[in-house]
Amino acid sequence: MVTSLYLLPTGECNCVCTYCYCLSEGKRGDPDLFLRIVESFTDHILSSNPRSRPQIRFTGGEPWMEKKLLPEVIELFFRKVPEGLVVVNTNGILLPEDSLRVWRGDERLIHVISLDGPAALHNSRRKSKDGRGTFHEVIKGVEMLLDLDLPVYLNAVLDTESSGHLSELMHFISSELGLDELSISLLHVDTDPLSPEDRYSLLKNAYSEASSRSIRLGGHHRLLLGSWIPELRCNAGSATALVDPEGMVHACQRFVGRVNPDCMWTDDFDWNGFNSGQQCGPVCGGNDEQIVGRKLYELYSKEYPEYLQSHNLDRILFGVLA
Ligand code: SF4
Ligand code: SF4
Repeated sequence: MVTSLYLLPTGECNCVCTYCYCLSEGKRGDPDLFLRIVESFTDHILSSNPRSRPQIRFTGGEPWMEKKLLPEVIELFFRKVPEGLVVVNTNGILLPEDSLRVWRGDERLIHVISLDGPAALHNSRRKSKDGRGTFHEVIKGVEMLLDLDLPVYLNAVLDTESSGHLSELMHFISSELGLDELSISLLHVDTDPLSPEDRYSLLKNAYSEASSRSIRLGGHHRLLLGSWIPELRCNAGSATALVDPEGMVHACQRFVGRVNPDCMWTDDFDWNGFNSGQQCGPVCGGNDEQIVGRKLYELYSKEYPEYLQSHNLDRILFGVLA
């Protein structure tokens, strides 16, 4: 049964990050279609009363380019499903303070914002379309959300370059922003073809830095542990459905533009019976990811046993966990 609806309302973005893997055509979806999808999804939740917390997760492109659609969806979903959760994955630059003020202090509306490192590093990779580094705008957005008492989490892309700046980034987010959790995501192996050993080394260094600063880590790499920690096994494709700007349904954002979608969304979409043909095994990826996952599990067992169970940050970052 789908309890976590991912919406990709637009492939458009105001940024041109060096490693972006979003839809190259950058198409915008039909807002009316997305509202219909959300109405249908909320009706399904109300009639099925699922055990898992119902959630809507925006991804992109940059979701806040749809500044009219997002508030409409959030208002509709919270009104009909008050126990629901909305998570917006965003670059943090277009956050509309006027609209967001309505939800001041509402813990159900969560933003996950990309910040790759200290200013110089972030600005060299994450630029606006007119070529400006975005660090200061991102921080302004984070501070605005904190002022509104809305939950905000940061996600840093981890590769060889950013690994060398993690210490500075962690110091900044804890001393300047008062945050004690950080999501880190390795680049997709197609974009950054490192060996499993090198990918593991990046993660090991991140855990060492985080531990010395009392920061808890989460992020996509946790989905490499599903063979050893069953709670971290991905359930995308039955617990989730993602709808792209063309109205096509996928199990997961990682499949958009890479493999054929499952179907086109229609008004009679079967939220209870959806079972994607794109489901994966217990680990997110192939044999190399299994190697990274096993090494990470051994590291946790030896040095960081607190990570041997799924934690709240995992559930905030992923709708794919059961
Ligand atoms: S903000 Fe996200 S969608 Fe936009 S260019 Fe950067 S990675 Fe791509
Ligand atoms: S395991 Fe498969 S479905 Fe799950 S997040 Fe990874 S690529 Fe997506």
